[in-house]
Amino acid sequence: MRAAGDYAVDLHLHSTFSDGLETPLELCARADGLGLTHIALCDHDTTDGLSELAIGAEAVRAARLQRGDGTPFTAFPCVELSSGWGGRTHILGYGLDADDPALRQCLREAEEDRGQRAEKMLGLLKAQGVGIPEELNSVLANPRVGRAHIARALVKTGAVSTVQQAFDRYLAEGRSAYVPRKWMSANRAVQILRDAGALIVLAHPCRLGLDDAALSALVDELSAAGLRGLEVFHPSAGRRDVRALELLARRKGLLVTGGSDYHGDRNTRVRMGRLPSGWRTMRRDVDAMLAAMRRG
Ligand code: AMP
Ligand code: MN
Ligand code: MN
Ligand code: MN
Repeated sequence: MRAAGDYAVDLHLHSTFSDGLETPLELCARADGLGLTHIALCDHDTTDGLSELAIGAEAVRAARLQRGDGTPFTAFPCVELSSGWGGRTHILGYGLDADDPALRQCLREAEEDRGQRAEKMLGLLKAQGVGIPEELNSVLANPRVGRAHIARALVKTGAVSTVQQAFDRYLAEGRSAYVPRKWMSANRAVQILRDAGALIVLAHPCRLGLDDAALSALVDELSAAGLRGLEVFHPSAGRRDVRALELLARRKGLLVTGGSDYHGDRNTRVRMGRLPSGWRTMRRDVDAMLAAMRRG
């Protein structure tokens, strides 16, 4: 249970505007039910869900007020950009200005690239006789089509039994239907978000698969471009990883953040609000983030 004054946060969520399964309104309602105090919508390469997020957040505040529930609720606008080698370096931009022209241009290009890439991936699946072509083609109607959509279509056609299996067999890097995205350098992603007034955080650093020295070097390089925080509390980080990442963040003077990367898929262990344990400074860290965004 949340004690009065405590925070309960999840600063990394996806909605139907990218590859999540719930709308921003549904995410807000779920966050309300869980008693969360702060959430962030971090859709891949799009800010289109952010106006609905603001409406959802307002609805949660109104509902809490009506219930006599004093739990505060804040929903941060954010976006998650794929960058760096293989598009593996994911950069989060909290509190961004969604109308920034350079950001808009970058998101337009990403959308175009997503469509072209999905067509290539579907071509590879069809050539391998995997899935039902008509079912698979339906994913192309989505302007923000990603591998998660293809994975779910493969589950639906019975080609695989889980999304994870679709990635492991066909869609993960190096698998038979994988096609890389066009990617910008991580420095460029940081610059674009910085120029759009965002507070910039390196998402799920453990996913990069770097050793300590290489991660430290990347963090230094990105910090010079404007990186301000590390997503320490993410399900990809085990106990030891969390400790190491937190230490790294403190040593480099970076903010510590956390989020579940919730997409709404049922048969995974990811749940909204479920973060690795041990975030004892959550309130202080989130307040520092809020202060940095206000200054930003
Ligand atoms: P995309 O942006 O199309 O390259 O897809 C990346 C998204 O696919 C990630 O944000 C996850 O939602 C999902 N994803 C990537 N790798 C895996 C994996 N190995 N298992 C399950 N989902 C994955
Ligand atoms: Mn995703
Ligand atoms: Mn990511
Ligand atoms: Mn994500």
